[in-house]
Amino acid sequence: MHPFQYLAPTSVAEAVDALARYGDRARALAGGTDILVQTRTGRFDLDAVVDVKRVPELTALTLGEDGLSIGAAVPCYRVYEDAEVAGLYPGLIDAASLIGGIQIQSRASLGGNLCNASPSADGICPLIVHYGQAHSAGPDGRRSTPVEEFCVAPGRTILEPGEFLVSIELPRPPAGFGGAYQRFIPRNEMDIAVVGVGSSLTLNAAGDRVESARVALAAVGPTPILAHAAGDSLVGKTPGIDAFREAGELAADAARPISDMRGDVNFRKELVRVLTRRTLTTALERAQS
Ligand SMILES: Cc1cc2nc3c(=O)[nH]c(=O)nc-3n(C[C@H](O)[C@H](O)[C@H](O)COP(=O)(O)OP(=O)(O)OC[C@H]3O[C@@H](n4cnc5c(N)ncnc54)[C@H](O)[C@@H]3O)c2cc1C
Repeated sequence: MHPFQYLAPTSVAEAVDALARYGDRARALAGGTDILVQTRTGRFDLDAVVDVKRVPELTALTLGEDGLSIGAAVPCYRVYEDAEVAGLYPGLIDAASLIGGIQIQSRASLGGNLCNASPSADGICPLIVHYGQAHSAGPDGRRSTPVEEFCVAPGRTILEPGEFLVSIELPRPPAGFGGAYQRFIPRNEMDIAVVGVGSSLTLNAAGDRVESARVALAAVGPTPILAHAAGDSLVGKTPGIDAFREAGELAADAARPISDMRGDVNFRKELVRVLTRRTLTTALERAQS
């Protein structure tokens, strides 16, 4: 690892300038729990690291009438320690409170989790099933992208050189909404998901039909996958095990896993079925409570 510049801009415009100046030889730094490890092991050969934590927008966590805005560098613990946020966005809290351990959660951000674009990232599926939008800024101005379109390959996102993630916005969930995230890991903690599934559903006013639903999958493709058919299959149905089983089958069809030392294709597809049923069951309980 050769010496590199450490830059700490205090505004979005300064951060864009700093990142654009070094192009693909600079990277943003949020909590540093991925990038420091990756830089040490030679994945990046950097001339500059741009610490974005001094940009006020990046560390703001704001809950308003319209929804939740999570600054891209807000550490996980601030998300799950906010009782109102935890009540409204339960699927997100499932993930924020299991990434690494307490020490990692005190540094690691959901923004860094998204920009790192690991197929097995735990934070991305919950953002997708909570209908998240990623807001970025770059030399050509600002733009918004649905979270499900943000990752394009393992470790790669839609961000262009000089562009960085500013915040992630989640709409305020309507009445009758519930969400959940679960992963399978061989150990109890500090492990990479063999499969992760996030689910959400919204019930009608009577609580006996599903109005909308989403299912998102981690670690079964090169990027997190929004399993459209699985979510759509629930719309108009009575929520319960029969509908959830069918959604699980459709989610398994959408999965494109590889076989590796942590699990083969069939094992991973079966995990998708099981975790889809389980997360939908938890989402339903939360929607009803
Ligand atoms: C011991 C340990 C356990 C872990 N356990 C888990 C786990 O259980 N689940 C899990 O999903 N991950 C886990 N991780 C990985 C990591 O902690 C998470 O991915 C974390 O959310 C990354 O956030 P960060 O703020 O530290 O990102 P950083 O390391 O600061 O950045 C990650 C990447 O995103 C880029 N980036 C950061 N912010 C921005 C921005 N605003 N705009 C553009 N690019 C940006 C960086 O350049 C870098 O490439 C673990 C890591 C460790 C070391």
